[in-house]
Amino acid sequence: MMRQFELVERVKAYDPAADEVAINRAYVFSMKAHGSQLRASGDPYFSHPIEVAGILAEMKLDAASIITALLHDTVEDTVATLDDIERLFGPDIAKLVDGVTKLSRLELQSDQTKQAENFRKLVLAMSEDIRVLLVKLADRLHNMRTLHFLKDEERRRRIARETMEIYAPLAERIGMQEMKDELEDLAFAELHPEARASIMARLAFLREKGEGLAERIMDELQETLTGGGLAAEVSGREKTPYSVWRKMQQKNVGFEQLSDIMAFRVVVDTVEQCYQALGVVHSRYPVVPGRFKDYISTPKPNNYRSLHTGVIGPERQRIEMQIRTRDMHEVAELGVAAHWVYKQGAPRTEGRQYRWLRELLDILEHAPDPQEFLEHTKLEMFQDQVFCFTPKGDLIALPRGATPVDFAYAVHSVIGDTCVGAKINGRLAPLRTQLANGDQVEVITSKAQTPSPTWERFVVTGKARARIRRFIRTQQRQQYLDLGKAILQKAFRHEGHDLTEKALDEVLKTFNCASVEDLFVAVGEGLATGREVVHAIHPPRPDAKPAKVVRLATARSKKASENAVPIRGLIPGMALHFAGCCHPLPGDRIVGIVTTGKGVTIHTIDCDALANFADTPERWLDVAWTSKGDGEIGHVGRINVTLGNEPGSLGSLTTVIGKQAGNITNLKITNRSIDFFEILVDIEVKDVKHLTNIIAALRATPVINSVERSRG
Ligand code: MN
Repeated sequence: MMRQFELVERVKAYDPAADEVAINRAYVFSMKAHGSQLRASGDPYFSHPIEVAGILAEMKLDAASIITALLHDTVEDTVATLDDIERLFGPDIAKLVDGVTKLSRLELQSDQTKQAENFRKLVLAMSEDIRVLLVKLADRLHNMRTLHFLKDEERRRRIARETMEIYAPLAERIGMQEMKDELEDLAFAELHPEARASIMARLAFLREKGEGLAERIMDELQETLTGGGLAAEVSGREKTPYSVWRKMQQKNVGFEQLSDIMAFRVVVDTVEQCYQALGVVHSRYPVVPGRFKDYISTPKPNNYRSLHTGVIGPERQRIEMQIRTRDMHEVAELGVAAHWVYKQGAPRTEGRQYRWLRELLDILEHAPDPQEFLEHTKLEMFQDQVFCFTPKGDLIALPRGATPVDFAYAVHSVIGDTCVGAKINGRLAPLRTQLANGDQVEVITSKAQTPSPTWERFVVTGKARARIRRFIRTQQRQQYLDLGKAILQKAFRHEGHDLTEKALDEVLKTFNCASVEDLFVAVGEGLATGREVVHAIHPPRPDAKPAKVVRLATARSKKASENAVPIRGLIPGMALHFAGCCHPLPGDRIVGIVTTGKGVTIHTIDCDALANFADTPERWLDVAWTSKGDGEIGHVGRINVTLGNEPGSLGSLTTVIGKQAGNITNLKITNRSIDFFEILVDIEVKDVKHLTNIIAALRATPVINSVERSRG
């Protein structure tokens, strides 16, 4: 295990300005927090955060990353809290540790490998600060290096698969080739041990057979380049077993044909020298057609730059070569981490990490090559996304601003149609709540529910919106149709005629309708009145008195109310509206006013607002509640209360209403003086009797002066 002073020395070697005291403090804090916990290897748990810090020190990352590495498992696995860390190490470190902790939790939540793509996006979206991702990758690398200590095979395979599908591509995505190679190879060893063993054996065989071959090739290349006047550094590297295996898979070649198991690298000082070196090599050796690629003039999306070529080289071996500058080499190996490298004495400038992040965003945004990993993942695209989980751990990607209703529709149309509520991270939340990254959403459904027109105001996904609109359209038409039919039946009866479809057929053209149903809808919508339709079929005799329109309920006979249009089944907000002035309740005597294009608005018979419609009797509609059973819809009654201005009076008011099972939906103080308050209270009740009971109970309460039902 690396000692405290060793770690500090290593960091100091590349960053003399690093906060030594803070690193020491983090080391001690983490050691104490993890205490006697052990790793599967039997080592003290604390060896893990130190190794992770060591990996990051090799990458020459800043002190904050090193400290974060030391602390990265304390919040999740020990009694230490994020508050402790913020208090001791400041808000920046706390934020980094929090980021790594969150990523670790995601890891536990989702093992849905088919969703690796989404998961990668989520990880990138969650790691706002790229250092969070770097610490996480180092954490994963150390866990992979020690994977073989885990006893549970299923778990080992899951971790290896996750590494292969998520972390290795992520490392590649941000250009960390070395990290990617090692992660892949460790995962490969777990997932396909036999394949790896046979590749290793073959590599050993080839190595032995061509004893000293690589060295001879390197020597000759070095000579050739020096002869061409270039100061170049030549090195050779055997390909990793995994890259050999993948080549065998992709190119469908057998092992025998795999001769180019070595890759040679030429590092020079300048870009010009890269092309010079290429010229020297190409003029000396036969070129293998189709192997040349210029990633200097056209860098890879992850910023990788190099010249690639293949030649029949020294010893008549087919070899692959990469030619690059030292800078390019650093980026190729370390990727984004290369930019962290501290130059001795270089001033640490403000906003350094932001420039960094911008660069990464650039890389991610300009990924034109569809062959690359994460080809669809332009960052801007998932900056506009949130990633949420179902209770089972399935990942649902949604646009930013999405609500539980969007989530429900994304899971299944039927779940969307019937959702009544949602639990976000185990807590009930309103359906209009905006979801955040990593939220776990449980949708509560009810068979009685149907899509609500109000949902349309807050959903953001096309699917949800389309489903809601379609539902409303079909519902609305049905509603208008039912209403129009009822209105016409009543109008015909009123004027002493029978309503027949045949008769209606005759006048369809007059009303610009294609079918009888359309005519019903038109009447329901208020585009034509019942009387107009009756008169189009049975023109009134010129001497006939205008049909008597009964305006007051007191004048209504029993028979008239039998002719009333039942409002049962009409959904408020579609063909039917309850007037906001008088708040009609089941049990109230009511009248409907037909409003063009909006259907019917229901008022109580004594509502003052009805005076406005005195001149348009054709718009009045006799309507009736349909016995019981309207109770499914909550009706809101409004009362005016005057109560004494004294401690507890408002409490008494709400207590009395609550005891009577009334649900207060709104409270508004309309007037206040030294002695009294006047308050408007909206209460959800079953019917008028329910409201009357509440009013009586309130009147019996001492602090309450007067209670009246509001009349507009
Ligand atoms: Mn860890």
